[in-house]
Amino acid sequence: MANVEQKLITPVSQAQSGASRNKVTIVGVGQVGMACAISVLLRELTDEMALVDVLEDKLKGEMMDLLHGSLFLKTPKIMANKDYAITANSRVVVVTAGARQQEGESRLNLVQRNVNIFKFIIPQIVKYSPNCTIIVVSNPVDILTYVTWKISGFPKNRVIGSGCNLDSARFRYLMAEKLGLHPSSCHGWVLGEHGDSSVPVWSGVNVAGVALQQLNPEIGTAQDKEDWKEVHKMVVDSAYELIKLKGYTNWAIGLSVAELVESIVKNLSRIHPVSTMVKGMYGIANEVFLSLPCVLSAEGLSAVINQTLKEDEVAQLRKSADTLWAIQKELKELES
Ligand code: NAD
Repeated sequence: MANVEQKLITPVSQAQSGASRNKVTIVGVGQVGMACAISVLLRELTDEMALVDVLEDKLKGEMMDLLHGSLFLKTPKIMANKDYAITANSRVVVVTAGARQQEGESRLNLVQRNVNIFKFIIPQIVKYSPNCTIIVVSNPVDILTYVTWKISGFPKNRVIGSGCNLDSARFRYLMAEKLGLHPSSCHGWVLGEHGDSSVPVWSGVNVAGVALQQLNPEIGTAQDKEDWKEVHKMVVDSAYELIKLKGYTNWAIGLSVAELVESIVKNLSRIHPVSTMVKGMYGIANEVFLSLPCVLSAEGLSAVINQTLKEDEVAQLRKSADTLWAIQKELKELES
């Protein structure tokens, strides 16, 4: 006897097991991981998403909840499991797993806890998706991007830290608020370390090609009567403030990660302030990851844009590089 499916549907071709060409995996389904997941799903960037964590019930719950929204999504396959086999053949893997900052805790303080977690996660990703691009989000993101690069053995174009992508988005939002414009029309780059020692490039801040520094030569300095410096200070303070207010930050980082994923899966060659290996640039001698304007395309991070930075900006980058290296050189047994 034919069942409903057989009576209803006349097959014309055999169902293909067609491999996804833009599969996205999210490792860590906490606040940040799920914000990344929903942002990627709503922007319709993939036909297949895999979620991985160590918490089985949480994984199952998040997967079911997303699948119940299938009617409103265009991603037919959403899987969740603690076994990395489900991540096989991912195009992009976003790593958000790990401990988050406690109230008042600096990002750098998290390092050892999260390095140990990464020693387990990264080899699993490499095993199942040897050609993927990894986007690291967990903090301290610049150091963990270095750790991922070392453990994975991947070329540097396929290991990217979300870095100052969020800091720059916050900067552009706050600048936009000050000017009464939309952030997409307010241009400015925050570079260097994600967080406490990030560097605002005041010389490049502009609206419609008009450099704000030409209108206000003191912009960003202590002498500036309009106190634009405060915009960057608010960027640096924002994670601490949010953690105090709601315990974590998630929506803006999720939205900003989806933007990076889009540039890769759609081969857009868009430029983002993300963390890359900067040894040899701006006189930096060690293998550290810091944010610079980077071109993201199908190969991952395909190029770095050489901004003309002022002497003090370069000095700040080098200082961040030294701080990060002082921590990194103490990390042992990272090579794959
Ligand atoms: P969370 O505690 O809500 O979630 C972390 C998740 O990681 C949990 O579900 C946990 O079970 C999982 N996890 C722990 N060990 C794991 C392992 N070995 N394998 C797989 N999953 C594992 O934390 P959150 O708020 O989502 O933050 C996650 C990370 O993102 C933190 O390190 C946080 O500091 C960082 N973060 C980065 C940025 C940025 O701009 N780069 C912004 C916000 C948060």
